[in-house]
Amino acid sequence: MVIITFDDAVNNENWEIYQTIFTANRTNANGCPIRSTFFLSHEYTNYRHVQKLWNDGHEIAVHSITHRQPELWWTFNATIEDWFDEFAGMANIINKFAGIPLEELRGTRVPFLRVGWNTQLIMMKEFGFLYDSSMVPPKSDPPIWPYTFDFRIPHKCAGSLQKCPSRSFPGMWEMAMNPLDIEGHTCAMVDSCPTHLSEEEVFTLFLDNFNRHYKTNRAPFGLFFHTTWFKDKKNFKVFLQFIDELIKKPDVYIVTNYQAIEWMRTPTPLSQLNNFEPWKCQKNIDPNLIACNHPKLCKLHSRHLRGERYLQTCFECPEVYPWVKNEFGLEFKSNDSFLKNPDNSYNLSNLTDLLMKINFNVLNH
Ligand SMILES: [Zn+2]
Repeated sequence: MVIITFDDAVNNENWEIYQTIFTANRTNANGCPIRSTFFLSHEYTNYRHVQKLWNDGHEIAVHSITHRQPELWWTFNATIEDWFDEFAGMANIINKFAGIPLEELRGTRVPFLRVGWNTQLIMMKEFGFLYDSSMVPPKSDPPIWPYTFDFRIPHKCAGSLQKCPSRSFPGMWEMAMNPLDIEGHTCAMVDSCPTHLSEEEVFTLFLDNFNRHYKTNRAPFGLFFHTTWFKDKKNFKVFLQFIDELIKKPDVYIVTNYQAIEWMRTPTPLSQLNNFEPWKCQKNIDPNLIACNHPKLCKLHSRHLRGERYLQTCFECPEVYPWVKNEFGLEFKSNDSFLKNPDNSYNLSNLTDLLMKINFNVLNH
């Protein structure tokens, strides 16, 4: 299995890139088009494009609303409420403006890969996420397979000032990000590998690391990108060459994180993969959830960002730019009936109730 992921906003800046990669003729051996996982952050995201990616069979996952800095805020300062605000909030935004059912938003990746200790996992379990993909184990040969949190994590908590989960969370998965190795230098995201490599060097980087998986224990081989890396035309060309080589192999499938988990839950031999349901491509999408060709272009004020942002969606425009604690973008006017007339109020109570319960549970442990 090869897993390709993309992080951050999906919009016109990178849409062409995705259209170029995911063409109808790039298929796996079962005849289905190759697919990826997109870890989405909110600002500048075009939700019509997100809806289209999901319609096409890609996996959409959650990478927070704000993607806020500093990096270490995620490790040391984010409270359980912050984790809900950022990740459950982003799932709600994607659900509302791209129409993707909440139960299909299964994965998280923390900004800057700052793992959030047990707090992140408590949020994930409570909200119904299935897996995280933020942890970078030390480089190993053979590489490590994705694992569950049923038991202790099978590697050192690597990286500077990281706080990995210390408890078990049965049933939750970690799609660990085996780093790439280039002459002793390791990099988790491809764009954090050394730059200014020649075409041959980039191809060798991909091929050598792929072979460390393919020729040993066949742990899924991950390539993790920010699309800035493709702005260098040479990089893009080599990447396309590389995946075109991969898909010639009858025993290599380029799949989403969730498809990889499905295979691990039901390991299926190559000879039966044509009938392996989770890797099939026919998808029955509710006709109301098919991405429109003429989305609404909503020009919205954001108090937090102190300016205007555009949001494109096939659904109704919100009143203000959605953000943490206001993921549906409702406008709260000072003379609003919200406080005076609770019967007529916006329904914010569910998540707050849940948070109260969880905080209570955490305090009691
Ligand atoms: Zn990011």
